[in-house]
Amino acid sequence: MKLQAYGQNAHEANSQAQEYINKLEDLISTTKNDSEIYKLNQSKEFPIEVSKECSVLLKYALNMSEISDGAFNPALYPITKMWGFTQDNYKIPSAGEIKEKITNCHTAEWASIKIEDNKITLLPGMQLDLGGIGKGYAGDQIIEIYKAYGIKSALIDLGGNIQLLGKKNNGSEWTIGIKNPFGQGTIGQIKASDQAIISSGGYERYFISEDGKKYIHIIDGQNGYPVDNEIEAVTVVGKSGAYCDALSTALFVMGLDKAIDLWKKQKDFDFIIVTKDKTVNITSSLSKRFTLNGDLAFQVKTIK
Ligand code: ADP
Ligand code: MG
Repeated sequence: MKLQAYGQNAHEANSQAQEYINKLEDLISTTKNDSEIYKLNQSKEFPIEVSKECSVLLKYALNMSEISDGAFNPALYPITKMWGFTQDNYKIPSAGEIKEKITNCHTAEWASIKIEDNKITLLPGMQLDLGGIGKGYAGDQIIEIYKAYGIKSALIDLGGNIQLLGKKNNGSEWTIGIKNPFGQGTIGQIKASDQAIISSGGYERYFISEDGKKYIHIIDGQNGYPVDNEIEAVTVVGKSGAYCDALSTALFVMGLDKAIDLWKKQKDFDFIIVTKDKTVNITSSLSKRFTLNGDLAFQVKTIK
């Protein structure tokens, strides 16, 4: 995590931001056994009252499930746990185990999560994981903290998540590199200000089984298996961190064609989707701000 803020109150604003991140982590961690999400995930009786913050974030997550037609699914914790992604003890579950668990967190089931005031009701066997949206949401809140401290220029780097407030301190736009999902370095860079630039990649967290197959930490809620499609990495660019974070995960799950359809429908984000055939699929307005590194064997396809 790297926080870079410019202005008179930058030091204080950064300690406030740091404190906020710790507080959010204490609310939504799936592994800390006094977090609100942990309590929800362990409970047999509902409803359970949570903080305003937790309920707002969960509502936002459910809204993203709706927008993405279930590709973003915040109820996949039983599945990510079973594959060992939560504790880095990877294993391939049996088809039977997956089938049994997926019935409780299938893509269609998120709609049955109830939120009334701050009281949450989950279906039996359902467990939440806000890991696909939490960092982006945190970034949005840090931007608000910065604004309250009068800061006009900042870069928040939460690991794969970049969020920008204003332009660089010297008045020029920020240059943000897009990671090469196949190896070292970047595939290129984009110029931006006041935006969230959020990436999801199979290269972030994965394991390789004995037979050489790669399993990534993004799960397809339709079948309970790690996503295995033509996509290697997704970057989503837009105004809100939570929105772009959830979308980066969702576009990965839905695949390139559906991602393009969603982009045409929503019209309020841009993307770079790198496919396994080394094509950089980039939406037209973003392509004007993107420079490809010439020395790599990638081809660019502009999506209109
Ligand atoms: P990262 O958090 O590594 O930057 P993502 O934003 O793509 O990457 O989030 C991946 C995390 O989201 C996973 O580690 C898991 O906690 C959660 N997750 C996995 N599959 C899904 C899904 N289909 N919908 C929502 N969240 C998911
Ligand atoms: Mg995400």
